Amino acid sequence: MRLGWLLVALLIISKFIALMPEAHAIPAHSSQLANEIKVTSDTIRVKLSDLGRVLTIKGTDLSLSLAQKPELGSVQADRWVVDCNRNLIYQPETGKSRAIPRTGVLIESLSGILSVNQRRFRDQLVVYPKSDLNPSCMVVNHLPIEKYLESVVNGEFNSKWAETAVEAQIIAARTYAVYQMKEVRRRSVSVFDVESTQKDQVYLGMDRADSKAAQLVERTKGMVMVSSDKKPIKAFYHASCGGQTILPEQVWGGHFAGFHHAVTCPFCHGSPSFQWQHSLSLSQIEQKIRSGIQKDASNRGFWPDRFLKSPRSWTLSGVTATESEDHRAQDLVFAFTSKTGQALNVAMNAYQARNWLDPAKIKSTWFSLIQKGRSILFSGKGSGHGVGMCQWGAKRMGEKGYTREQILSYYYPGIKIAKAF
Ligand SMILES: [Zn+2]
Repeated sequence: MRLGWLLVALLIISKFIALMPEAHAIPAHSSQLANEIKVTSDTIRVKLSDLGRVLTIKGTDLSLSLAQKPELGSVQADRWVVDCNRNLIYQPETGKSRAIPRTGVLIESLSGILSVNQRRFRDQLVVYPKSDLNPSCMVVNHLPIEKYLESVVNGEFNSKWAETAVEAQIIAARTYAVYQMKEVRRRSVSVFDVESTQKDQVYLGMDRADSKAAQLVERTKGMVMVSSDKKPIKAFYHASCGGQTILPEQVWGGHFAGFHHAVTCPFCHGSPSFQWQHSLSLSQIEQKIRSGIQKDASNRGFWPDRFLKSPRSWTLSGVTATESEDHRAQDLVFAFTSKTGQALNVAMNAYQARNWLDPAKIKSTWFSLIQKGRSILFSGKGSGHGVGMCQWGAKRMGEKGYTREQILSYYYPGIKIAKAF
């Protein structure tokens, strides 16, 4: 390297180091960060989950820069360690540590591949400090949406299923992702578009992608489902409907464009969760309610103050369900008595209550209840929220020779397929 260039490089690096805030200056996290980092329209921002509190980020010639100020230059290294407990990032070789600024640090790899605690990801990671809302730091993976979909294929379904079924599912997953990207960025509320869990779509990084997934993503490149207003729909899908889908309004309220009517589904009766049963004792339910109240502030509103003040002074004596028009449970009604003999009935939306009780065992809200002594038997059908495409049904339709368009228009009646990019 010529001396002049070396001096310029040193100047850039020292400027960058000088601008990194000191370790003690840990700013509060703001939720108003969207669009501070430039994202192109086909780059999706995925919030990664379950990475742990100490992250080792490795790659060939990683470059680290301030996410918001790329013009300040970057520092190269093959390894960075993030200590989320102390909001620090450091190079283990030199031991020098810096606080992670509120706007995040951007780490990218020249080879396009980097790993976080052995899990491999593509392109770019942005690390944000912990905040009042997030007790650990937040890592967001920025990558082209088509590469993201190659991994989602095997996170949400399976590239080895019938091709037309997989193609239909890829189009649904792309549509959901594009909807979220537009919606989140329009509202400017978040530094990520989707979470990497079932809350949005399961994404476990590039080790889940395979050549079949890549081939089928390529075959449907850019395709999304749009409603009559030509906008992508929020393409919900779920594991197995149990024989009948429902509309999103029936689960979450509000209005979702492009969903016109529910459909009967004769295709998923072979699915493992077509019918299920699960039993919980009243004391188990009490315990799950107390933990839900503690962990899930957004659904505490169902519970009256006199219960919230001292949940342990109420004993659960029974649970019943009210039924919606579509024969699913609408509310769960919990009957309590106090030590002084007072009675209290609390109705909670069944979809939310199911998340508190055990969504893996109480697989859907299509269930009935029987109380036997001090235990409640849930007997139900299907798995998941029941909105949009039934994945087991789509799989079966693919096996029977239906095309991807036929599968999609079966579960999303009235949609059209368009190219998003
Ligand atoms: Zn079904």
